[in-house]
Amino acid sequence: AAVESAPAIVVGSGYGAAVAALRLGQAGVRTLVLEMGRLWNTAGADGKVFCNTAAPDQRSMWFRTRTEAPLATFLWLDLVNKDIGLYPGVLDRVHFDHMSVFVGRGVGGGSLVNGSMAVTPLPSYFAEQFPTVDAAEMYATYYPRARAMLGVNSVDPAWFESTEWYRFTRVSRKHAQNTGLKTTFVPSVYDFGYMQREEAGTAVRSALGQEVIYGNNHGKKSLDKTYLAAALGTGNVTIHTMEKVRGVSRAADGTYVLTADRIDDTGRVVETKQYGCTYLFLGAGSLGTSELLVRARETGTLPALNADVGAGWGTNGNVMLGRANHLWDTVGANQSTMPVMGIDDWANTANPVFAEIAPLPTGLEHWVSLYLAITKNPQRATFTYDAASGGVKLGWSAAQSAVSVGMAKKLFDRINAANATIYRYDLFGSGSKVFADDFTYHPLGGCVLGKATDDYGRVKGCPRLYVTDGSLVPGNIGVNPFVTITALAERTMARVLAEDIAP
Ligand code: FAD
Repeated sequence: AAVESAPAIVVGSGYGAAVAALRLGQAGVRTLVLEMGRLWNTAGADGKVFCNTAAPDQRSMWFRTRTEAPLATFLWLDLVNKDIGLYPGVLDRVHFDHMSVFVGRGVGGGSLVNGSMAVTPLPSYFAEQFPTVDAAEMYATYYPRARAMLGVNSVDPAWFESTEWYRFTRVSRKHAQNTGLKTTFVPSVYDFGYMQREEAGTAVRSALGQEVIYGNNHGKKSLDKTYLAAALGTGNVTIHTMEKVRGVSRAADGTYVLTADRIDDTGRVVETKQYGCTYLFLGAGSLGTSELLVRARETGTLPALNADVGAGWGTNGNVMLGRANHLWDTVGANQSTMPVMGIDDWANTANPVFAEIAPLPTGLEHWVSLYLAITKNPQRATFTYDAASGGVKLGWSAAQSAVSVGMAKKLFDRINAANATIYRYDLFGSGSKVFADDFTYHPLGGCVLGKATDDYGRVKGCPRLYVTDGSLVPGNIGVNPFVTITALAERTMARVLAEDIAP
């Protein structure tokens, strides 16, 4: 087959990939980005690019006949999920034994579907997770650089106190305060000026219109509007969509050869393409990058990869849960989809938890306080190659999830005791499940910095091959991860452009 080549290729278009593409483009390096999902810029018959959570259609999920929302039921009724047509929709849920992982598909990766929370971890915990990285430099240079490019902003506290759209957050804050717990505002890449105009009726509703996990039509500064727009603006970056890389090997001259399947809207492979490059950047996310490299090692196409490739994976300790409030503690029928506050008990060394106060926007009063807890779960798992399917398996066990549940339960038992409240049993399936411990929004690890790679994301044993995404983070970062992934990628690109890539 004909080989199309470029000096640099970037696989994926999420946070780590977008940073690589922009910085390569600015340095004058002609760069090709290969993304398996769609470019989300074309309106459907309803005039909208994305569908909302209340009425999902084929655009919601990656080749499914029924949606698989994190919240399975409400009052034990399967009201949440809907039948849909097969289509390359924007949200995927990848199933492994005992754990499923939500990821974004499309130009912008996870930024298209996530909750916009742009949180920087505690320097002390960053240093604990990345002992070989200069934390002072991260906090002085790369975190600020990442936040500036991502367009991080904060809710106006006065508006927050007054708007009905954050009543649910204020109620949860009160319950945390009754327990003697600290809460903290979390910054966001959703434009709060836009959100205030939504409330005023002068802008089309998105966060206030139940849009989030299936994409936001307005207000959110996803990567296609920030890093990737700037990357294309350099004139050196091209993006190919609907192309899934499945093979990576190294030619005799040391360049890299990629095999990619181009698919159509039905998921059929319409063409298999070969690409060549000198510099290869993997930004396919924790799942995508780990799978590509584990497969390359086990099938012998990159035999120099070490045993740390595929290891060190974790869920960032994610657990979702709901509490049932007293009748007088209404959370409001109107809820913004963008969380703005967390319960910060990370300093409690006996049981560190950071719990986001999450919305449950149904348009009806339901008295539910919902949370996504991030626990300091030290459990890690490894990806292994499955020759039968050509994919990977993940060795995560139910017992490992139980560690996260135990930590979340300790915190929320305290909150329930202090407020004389109970858990909700009707949200996560028919089995009266209280803690949703079988999925994560925050897959991290698989090619951990300093283990599978050197301290700058250079893959050990493979010159000019780099990892720039969430697979570098060793399984847990204590807060929502995208700011850290972006900042680490900025650090890698600064080093690689200075040392490895000739001007
Ligand atoms: P990703 O953003 O996952 O990008 C990887 C890209 O590579 C994808 O576009 C994918 O389609 C593509 N790809 C994968 N494999 C291949 C292949 N073989 N060939 C070609 N392309 C490929 N984090 C926060 O910090 N704050 C939040 O509020 C938050 N909320 C979240 C809510 C949801 C519902 C979800 C799912 C995630 C949320 N996250 C949040 C997590 C955050 O989105 C991820 O941590 C982040 O997107 C990971 O960035 P990444 O660069 O590692 O990869």
